[in-house]
Amino acid sequence: MKWRDDLRQLDKEIVLLAHSMAILGWDQETYMPRKAIGERAEQLALLQGICHDKIVDPRWQDAFESMGIEDVNRFPVEGLSDDQALLREAFRRYQKEAALSKDLVMAISRQTSLSQAKWAEAKKARNYSIFEPELKKLFALVKEKAETIGYQENIYDALLDDYEPYMTLKELEKVFDDFKGPLKDLFFKICDQKSDIPHDFLHLPFSVEKQKKLNKEVLNQLKFPFERARLDESEHPFTTTLGMDDVRITTHFHEEYFPAAFFGTVHEAGHALYELGIDSRWAESVIADGVSLGVHESQSRLWENIVFRGKSYWQGYYPELSKIYPENFKDVRVDQFYKAINRVEPSLIRIEADELSYNLHIIIRFELEKRLFAGDIDTKDLPEAWNKAYKDSLGIMPSHNSEGVLQDIHWSMGAFGYFPTYSLGNLYSAQIYHKMKQDISDLEQDIANRKFDKMVQWLGQNIHQYGKFYRAKDLMKKATGEDLNPKYFMNYLNQKFGEIYGL
Ligand code: MG
Repeated sequence: MKWRDDLRQLDKEIVLLAHSMAILGWDQETYMPRKAIGERAEQLALLQGICHDKIVDPRWQDAFESMGIEDVNRFPVEGLSDDQALLREAFRRYQKEAALSKDLVMAISRQTSLSQAKWAEAKKARNYSIFEPELKKLFALVKEKAETIGYQENIYDALLDDYEPYMTLKELEKVFDDFKGPLKDLFFKICDQKSDIPHDFLHLPFSVEKQKKLNKEVLNQLKFPFERARLDESEHPFTTTLGMDDVRITTHFHEEYFPAAFFGTVHEAGHALYELGIDSRWAESVIADGVSLGVHESQSRLWENIVFRGKSYWQGYYPELSKIYPENFKDVRVDQFYKAINRVEPSLIRIEADELSYNLHIIIRFELEKRLFAGDIDTKDLPEAWNKAYKDSLGIMPSHNSEGVLQDIHWSMGAFGYFPTYSLGNLYSAQIYHKMKQDISDLEQDIANRKFDKMVQWLGQNIHQYGKFYRAKDLMKKATGEDLNPKYFMNYLNQKFGEIYGL
């Protein structure tokens, strides 16, 4: 069919441009000299503009009109064809982009690069006022974008939809409300415990050379396909896709705390396995992408927390680890090690938080974003509101803004509506793992033996291969038999931490 060849070609060009932008972004975070940011911002804005033109090319509209496509939610779930899935996602992309002027798209791209650079500077100087003027400009642009695209009930719907497509604020709040209370109860029960878990042995010198070998080893256990992917270093670990057979992950080594790089690497490897597992028939199409950031994060969390921070894995692998670092672990038993890497405490830094209180960090950011977009607070009020929220939820206060409001990169990238997907990832991961455990006999034994083939295969078959073919909610239902249900995550936490803390 003519339309199909034409549109597939256009779609392909959009994806090729997106991957080209991803290379520039990857380079910016890994090897680019700091002063190169000015032209890099221009390069990215230019490509973004070209990409915009292709997304809103009139041929799309002609095709959608001639086929009577006007609502992304009217596509079937059962019996969905490849063409329908492709048109649904292209239409979604078109609708959002066509609402925006090219000027606005390029202004956001440019401002994002600049805000990001100012954020890095401000974080280093622990000085929010360096960043605030740029954040204010970016916030105004993001708000303008959301207003222009439009939303059903709340402006937050428009923000969230960029990261968790098809989910509304109302649906998200329902999910969060269901687990917020039980989560806080468990957290405070643990904080009330008299005795702390010893963990000093994790904060010792760990040779980076050995850490590098260890990371390579764990990626080999996962059969990480190095012919289609790379591991590099960056300030903050991330994953980015440059092509169907080119997924980049990064990690960050800490000389006195080996868990940071180890768990960071397996986290990003989980993201990468997802991208690498998408069916090749979707190569260079709008479908060849994670279905939502929440589901994407579920793939990283499942490996990082459920598998690699789990008891089975260390029962199998701890003897090897203690041979690699004999000095550090000479008087440490596996159960002590397991408890130490899962120790719960109120903390200031999200990315260093335990898997339980991590979600409280997310809820704080989510609530602040809602207030910001509702106009209750302004960008200049953020540090104060942030500190108060930490005091109220976790009982601690940052001593400076770099361990407070400046710690995360997201807002400097205009990524408002993004944070909730981290907690969604935790919720999805527990539900997926629950089902996988029913389907794979001796799963825990496999983990203890570092045999991950069946798990990777299960995830490939049930999640990865589809890319954006199904909507996230339909995919979850298909893979696990029910809608997203926070009870799986709470059951998982209660069981794991109940045992660790003897509750
Ligand atoms: Mg992640």
